[in-house]
Amino acid sequence: MATRPLKLSRWQLDLFVSCPRCFWALKRHNISQPKGYPLALNTAIDVLLKDEFDGYRRQGKPHPLLASAKSEAKLFGDAAKVQEWRNPYQGLRWTERESGHTLFGAVDDILEFPDGSLAVLDYKSSGAREITIYDSYQLQMDVYTFLLQQLGYRTAPKAFFAFFVAVKTDGFNGRLPFRGTLVEVAPNPARVLPLFHQAIALAQSDQMPSCGAQCDVCRWTDEVAPIVTGSAAPKAAPPAAPAAGSAPLDALSIERVLTGSPSVPLTPPASS
Ligand code: SF4
Repeated sequence: MATRPLKLSRWQLDLFVSCPRCFWALKRHNISQPKGYPLALNTAIDVLLKDEFDGYRRQGKPHPLLASAKSEAKLFGDAAKVQEWRNPYQGLRWTERESGHTLFGAVDDILEFPDGSLAVLDYKSSGAREITIYDSYQLQMDVYTFLLQQLGYRTAPKAFFAFFVAVKTDGFNGRLPFRGTLVEVAPNPARVLPLFHQAIALAQSDQMPSCGAQCDVCRWTDEVAPIVTGSAAPKAAPPAAPAAGSAPLDALSIERVLTGSPSVPLTPPASS
């Protein structure tokens, strides 16, 4: 069993919760999930929002979103600390003294209440009609609030999302306006330490855990692998209505597509 100190990011703790197997593959075997396309639009909005909020911080003024929500909290005035806590290579970072294991995560922003307590502010942009606080969003707030506490800061029993939802009722015309809403949630930092310990224990284990329910990739892989490798006959597919003028895809055609070798002579599927 590995005993070296481990470093977990907030995102990795989220992966542990959503799919222990993927977390284990990453932390125990250094196998990461395939990279998706970069979320360039979200990243651009994130950069613009940080600039905008920083502008109000420099002027000592409330951001219009905080003003319209009549928030008594103001943007945390220590700009250098905010930059440090935003840095994905530093972030809010805490090392457990007894074990040497580390938990860290980069925030978007921090609010400060008149009594000196701090609250996390996270920017979210979305094209969805409704605002949804997903489990991973809640965990984000729990982890950041926990980290602030571990670093010795007093925290408010609140955390906030600055939600910017795309307004899609007025055409495009080369611009995409957003409607901002401040959403308050109650962070639950008390659940973070037990989760952190469970995640560390799994990262040090040789026992492969089961998959989470939110991702379908392993199920798909299990089902498609015998077809791709020709090691078993594919399951009978439900009859599909052929498009006009074309024959339905049979198993061999599917194999051509999956292997990307339409010109290679095909072997018939092995009989089971
Ligand atoms: S189900 Fe998805 S998240 Fe879980 S191990 Fe498989 S690929 Fe990873």
